[in-house]
Amino acid sequence: MKCPACASDQSSFLGVGCTHECQNCKTIFGSCTVAQKEQLIRPLVSHRPVITADCRYYKLNCPDESGNVAIYEGWYNVKEQRIAVLKNGVNDSHEPQVE
Ligand SMILES: [Zn+2]
Repeated sequence: MKCPACASDQSSFLGVGCTHECQNCKTIFGSCTVAQKEQLIRPLVSHRPVITADCRYYKLNCPDESGNVAIYEGWYNVKEQRIAVLKNGVNDSHEPQVE
C-alpha cells in the first residue's frame, strides 16, 4: 500500500484491520473499524497541540456498518500515547481532551 504522506510503497502490516506503517516516514495508514483504530490511536487529545519528534502522522479510513467512511487524521504522539493534533477529522468533535 502506498503511504498517503510520502507516497512510498514500502510499508509493513500492523496486524490490525488493513493498516500499515510506512517504512520511510512511519505514517500509520489504511483502513480498519473504529474499534481497531483505537488500538492504534488512543482517542485522547493532548492539551499540548505541538508536533514533536515523537509524533507520527496517521490517516485511517473507518467504514461503518452502512458503508460510510469516516477519515481519522492527525498527528499521534507515540510517547504520550495521545493525539497531538487533529486534522480536519470527524474526530474533532468527540475525542475527549486530557491534561
Ligand atoms: Zn510515508
